[in-house]
Amino acid sequence: MSFPPLREELRGLQPYGAPQLDVPVQLNVNENPYGPSAACVADIATAVAEASTTLNRYPDREFTELRTALAAYLSRDTPHGVVPEQVWAANGSNEVMLQLLQAFGGPGRTALSFAPTYSMYPEYARDSMTRWVQGRRAEDFSLDLDAARALIEAERPSVVLLPSPNNPTGTALPPEAVGVLCEAVGADGVLVVDEAYGEFRRSGTPSAVELLPEHRNLVVARTMSKAFAAAGLRLGYLAADPAICDAIRVVRLPYHLSAVTQAVALAALRHAPELLGRVDELRAERDDLVAWLREQGLRVADSDANFALFGTFPDRHAVWQGLLDRGVLIREVGPDGWLRVSVGTPAEMATFKQALTDVMEEGPA
Ligand SMILES: *Cc1c(COP(=O)(O)O)cnc(C)c1O
Repeated sequence: MSFPPLREELRGLQPYGAPQLDVPVQLNVNENPYGPSAACVADIATAVAEASTTLNRYPDREFTELRTALAAYLSRDTPHGVVPEQVWAANGSNEVMLQLLQAFGGPGRTALSFAPTYSMYPEYARDSMTRWVQGRRAEDFSLDLDAARALIEAERPSVVLLPSPNNPTGTALPPEAVGVLCEAVGADGVLVVDEAYGEFRRSGTPSAVELLPEHRNLVVARTMSKAFAAAGLRLGYLAADPAICDAIRVVRLPYHLSAVTQAVALAALRHAPELLGRVDELRAERDDLVAWLREQGLRVADSDANFALFGTFPDRHAVWQGLLDRGVLIREVGPDGWLRVSVGTPAEMATFKQALTDVMEEGPA
C-alpha cells in the first residue's frame, strides 16, 4: 500500500478543473463577463457586515430566508409557483448534484447520462460509488428520445443527469423530452434537468420548472454561477418535490451554507434584475459569434447557452495554445477536434476573433 492511502480507483487521477491562468481575455469557464455595480457591491458588503455580527453562532441550518427568496425567483418561470419546501441549495449546483447522488445513488445503483456532456457527472458517480452508464448523443449532439428511453428502461438508473442546455455542446432539450424521460425513469429514479444555463434559453422555450407538478421524480438544478453573474459566490439550488428536498437533508453536512454565503446570496437575489440585465446582450453576442465562426468555414454546434463549441481541428491543442499565446484563454473540452469558447464582452469577442483568425492563418505564434 502506498501513501497516502487513497482509494484504489482514485489513484493517479487528476482533479477536475480548467487551467486558471492570468491572461487578459478569459473565455474558458462560461462566466458572465459583467461584474456587479458599485450599488450592488455596497449592498452585499452591508449584508456581510450584518451577518458578521453573529458569526460566533452557526447559521440557519435550513436557510429558510434564502429558500424563500429562491422560491420567489423560480416562481417567475412557472404559472404554478414554487414554494420554499420545493427548494434546496448548496455551495454550487455541483454540490447539489453530488448530494443527489449521495442520497439516491450508491453501491448497487446506477446513474446515467448521454455523452458528450458535463464531465463532472461521472465524478459524482465515482465519488458516491454509483455505477456509471453513458449513452451517446446523435451526430448533431441532440438527444435521440427513443434511444434514450430504451437505454433508461434497460439500465433502470436511480439518477439520470441531463443538462439543458447541454455543456459543452450548448444543445437544449426538446420540450417533450422531460415528460417522456420522467415516464421512462419511473418511481424508482429521479430525472435531474441541469439548467445551469437555463436563463440563456431562447425566449418562448419553457423551463422544466413548469413541469414539476406533473412529475414527482423531476429535479431541476440551477446555479447563480452563470447567467446570474455570481460564480464567486458558490450558490447552486434545485426545485423538486418536497420529499426529495427532505431526503437530501439526510446526507448534507450540518450548516453547509455559511452565514456569509446566505447573506450574499440574498443580497444578490435582491439585485437580480441588474445581475441578469446583460443576458439578452450575451445571447445576441452568442448568435453573432456562432454566425461568425460559421463564416470562417468552421463547424459550430447550435447553442442555447453562453458558449459555442466549434471545430474541427486536426490538432485542437495547437489552436488552444495559439490563442493562449495571444492572450485568449478558451477551453479544450468536448469530442476530439472541438474547442469551446465562452461569450464575453464585445471587446473580448473582438480580441478572440482576431486571435483565431491569426492562428488559423499563421499557425501557432
Ligand atoms: C457550470 C455548470 C454547473 C454549475 O456549477 P456550479 O457548481 O453551480 O458553479 C452545473 N452544470 C453544468 C453543466 C455546468 O456547466
